Amino acid sequence: MSNSLKSLCSLSFNSCLLHLKCIKLSRNSLAFTSELGRRFQHSKDIKCWKCGIERKNINELFCPKCNIIQNPEDKNNYFNLLQCDVSFDIDSKTLRDKYRHMQSVLHPDKFSNRSLEEKNISGDFSSLVNKAYDILQSPLKRAVHLLALKGEKIKEDERIEDPEFLMEIMELNEEVENASTPEKLKILNVSNRETMRQIEQDISNFFKQNNLEKVKSSIIKLRYYTSVSQHINELLRERGIVD
Ligand SMILES: [Zn+2]
Repeated sequence: MSNSLKSLCSLSFNSCLLHLKCIKLSRNSLAFTSELGRRFQHSKDIKCWKCGIERKNINELFCPKCNIIQNPEDKNNYFNLLQCDVSFDIDSKTLRDKYRHMQSVLHPDKFSNRSLEEKNISGDFSSLVNKAYDILQSPLKRAVHLLALKGEKIKEDERIEDPEFLMEIMELNEEVENASTPEKLKILNVSNRETMRQIEQDISNFFKQNNLEKVKSSIIKLRYYTSVSQHINELLRERGIVD
């Protein structure tokens, strides 16, 4: 809590009746300050690498003065990189439109007659945009990325300990293995996708509640069902049926 907010409490801080409200105010204030700081920093420090002009808008891909391609400002946040809201609930059409627009202006093909520096920036920026799009368009990868942005890592090999859940997955895998016709596999595929959609909805709700532990366990569950889905698709391809 900042000193200014502490001084707002007329009672001693620990016994402040508005303690919770103060904490909330403080959080909002900190978030606001950090957002302001981010904008201020960007508006103050971000300069065109070519002509040195200060760039006010970090989303501009080209310098407003010399029209030269700029480096991405936030390489680690794929939502910012693709100029989307930092949220699990992303509109896939908006995402696709942003991606296509950015690639249509950043793609190295557009820079064949430009300087080596511009070609290099275009190449790096364009491949970063591809990577960001690959991550964001997949609900599973998007959830893992958003969780990491919130400071929570999830290990590749993290498992669910719940025996009931594990039994359910084992039985599902057996059903897939024993499916004797492509039709049966397709039915299993539909029901598996529905389960995945439900888990994605859970993840969305848990992010909204900022319940990161539940986000984590749902991500791990989603991994199991994603692996079942991959298995079904492999079997369908083996049988010459492209899903
Ligand atoms: Zn410039």
